[in-house]
Amino acid sequence: MARIRRELFPGEVLFRQGDPAGCAWLVESGEVELHAGTGGSARLQGVFGAGELIGELAQLDGAPYRATAVARSDAVLLAIDADQFAERIAASDPIVHALVDSLRTRVRALQEALPRGTPLPLEDQPCDDPEDRAGIEKIRFEAQLREALDTGTLEVHYQPIHDLQAGRIGGYEALVRWKHEALGQVSPADFIRLAEETSLIVPLGEYVLDRAIDVLRGLHRLHGEAVPSVAVNLSARQLVQPGMARQVVARATRAGLPRGALKLEVTESRMLDYGPVAAVMQHCRAHGVPFALDDFGTGYSNLTHLHELEFEYVKVDQAFCRHMLDSRRAMAIVEAIIAMAHGIGAQVIMEGVETREQLAELRRMGVRHAQGWLIGKAQPPEAVLAARPDAFTL
Ligand code: C2E
Ligand code: MG
Ligand code: MG
Repeated sequence: MARIRRELFPGEVLFRQGDPAGCAWLVESGEVELHAGTGGSARLQGVFGAGELIGELAQLDGAPYRATAVARSDAVLLAIDADQFAERIAASDPIVHALVDSLRTRVRALQEALPRGTPLPLEDQPCDDPEDRAGIEKIRFEAQLREALDTGTLEVHYQPIHDLQAGRIGGYEALVRWKHEALGQVSPADFIRLAEETSLIVPLGEYVLDRAIDVLRGLHRLHGEAVPSVAVNLSARQLVQPGMARQVVARATRAGLPRGALKLEVTESRMLDYGPVAAVMQHCRAHGVPFALDDFGTGYSNLTHLHELEFEYVKVDQAFCRHMLDSRRAMAIVEAIIAMAHGIGAQVIMEGVETREQLAELRRMGVRHAQGWLIGKAQPPEAVLAARPDAFTL
């Protein structure tokens, strides 16, 4: 697709009438005019400012652009990838699908019926419906995320995981970070879900996987066979993407990593289609890539997952650790989860360990791994490569 951010000077043409359909554009700043018709018969159709979309109809039906877009002032625009709209419409309720289709056909028919170049007055109406504004904000946020991925400005940080039995840092969890120019540090909790709504999650996952494998390569050089592991989060949607399992295995193998150095954490998902997920897990496991079930005990991370799929690790959601020392009920649940995980041959990783008292209690209960701010916050790769995992004490 085209560059995601375009900066235009006054008079510069973004696209011309008759050009094959490309992407739609969201105006970030400045103004853009649409002209229909050519030469002396060209007529102004509308002026579009910040927060308005242009070219979206051509994107919806794939027909050539019906007008020429020219910057009226210095202007900045964000490209809206075709998938961004097409995948959402395809995934929407068939009624919404039919309505969009019907509206699109009518607008096109109307455009055909009018003498060439007649302005469509509605196109110039500023939109002030809060729901529409929220939609535009979401479109913008997603385009910016795509741009961050494209320009390599997403960062991956690594949170240490304490292996209580070995008395060292046994591994790290890769956590993606986005430094947004206006919003500052945006939590992955806020943008992963958005990326998961479209196939944007696929390149994002590959990006994180590549960064994590780079770090693992460095760790392997430094620590040889005693290399600490790195766990990468993958949503079920990513996991069942065609070719994903082969990619994971190929990348880990190419990097010459020992078995178990790369791990995958399966994050919550509305529905898990167990058949394909089990097949993918089996393929990865056979090539030395084990799995953790993430955030166990909350949301959709449930007992059926444990029953249907084989996990080497169960990561207990941080809410349980937070409450186990002051709630008898939370403690009883934690004890039961640990017994159950051990019963199915999985190791437990407790998330959200923030105090020494919690850690002592976990040790008493025979928990093998602890992760949380007491052990350390997520760190940039340079810090991970400079750390001495076996010199860790608590
Ligand atoms: P998660 O996989 O359960 O990651 C743990 C989250 O808990 C991280 O938040 C981490 O910073 C936070 N945390 C760790 N220790 C503590 C603690 O002691 N106290 C508290 N209060 N919080 C702690 P973060 O980085 O904001 O990540 C949020 C979620 O975003 C992750 O939850 C994971 O589900 C998702 N995520 C992060 N990176 C990726 C990725 O590359 N791909 C996918 N698919 N999801 C990701
Ligand atoms: Mg995780
Ligand atoms: Mg987790």
